[in-house]
Amino acid sequence: MKGKLLLIGFGPGADAHLTFRARDAIAEAQVVIGYSTYIKLIEDLLEGKEVHRKGMSEELDRVHLAYDLARAGKIVALVSSGDAGVYGMAGPTMEVLAERGWLGDEDPEVSVEVVPGVTAVNGVASLVGAPLTHDFCTISLSDLLTPWPVIERRVEAAGAGDFVVALYNPQSKRRDWQLTATRDILLKHRAPETPVAIVKSAYRDRQHVVLTTLAEMCSHEVGMLTTILVGNTNTYVAAGKMITPRGYANKYDVLTTAIKAGQKPLRSLVLDDEGRPVGDAPAVARGAP
Ligand code: SAH
Repeated sequence: MKGKLLLIGFGPGADAHLTFRARDAIAEAQVVIGYSTYIKLIEDLLEGKEVHRKGMSEELDRVHLAYDLARAGKIVALVSSGDAGVYGMAGPTMEVLAERGWLGDEDPEVSVEVVPGVTAVNGVASLVGAPLTHDFCTISLSDLLTPWPVIERRVEAAGAGDFVVALYNPQSKRRDWQLTATRDILLKHRAPETPVAIVKSAYRDRQHVVLTTLAEMCSHEVGMLTTILVGNTNTYVAAGKMITPRGYANKYDVLTTAIKAGQKPLRSLVLDDEGRPVGDAPAVARGAP
């Protein structure tokens, strides 16, 4: 029997936002391996299965165990919250398998399937409005495996590039200064009143959502189950929602839908000499001659 390794992301909360394929893949697995908190979240799907709970720093052990069992012909699931490829188990698994001589799609003994999931940034964004409608990036503030200067450089670049920034692993009991350092870098590029969302345990029992500002970002409780979204220079809060405009207002009057003077639909935005979109006064209604 050819073995199988399923790398499954079960979404932010594990029930309503679990994909059909993730549910089927968990059902298909004979063995399920994961961090104990994650196993708890999907416990009702695990009846009758061989389950291995592992601690936080045992990721590589988990991978070796999973591969050994798959090579013995078992169907093995390695579960991550969110998406398995976003700071999840897909990376270390592929690294270890490549080192151990696995031949990829040609391998005669073990096939591997990565099952995509709803990553934290999607879950978190959905709870605060539409904060990601323009370019965004994710940065993990964990320096357990990445040198801090590398993280710092990426925060700096995200600030300079005006990306909306999603901060994963923002803070833990032992990592308590990185978030302040990150805020200080971003404050070089953004106003203190830039909207910030702090979301803990999205779609889980202890879900907690705070809308605040960049200046106040570090005055709230932030832990390992928190993701932080920092707006770009255009992000604003209205009706209690965090909104990052896509740019419609550069071209259209969003109330009347009239196109602005000098602009054309389906054509590049027309800019003035200072690089600003032309046509503040709405002209012809969209679709009209
Ligand atoms: N693979 C996961 C990320 C693992 S890294 C994914 O794709 O979502 C762990 C970090 O993810 C946490 O520190 C937190 O920043 C974020 N996270 C995961 N689940 C979350 C949730 N339900 N609510 C808020 N943040 C979450």
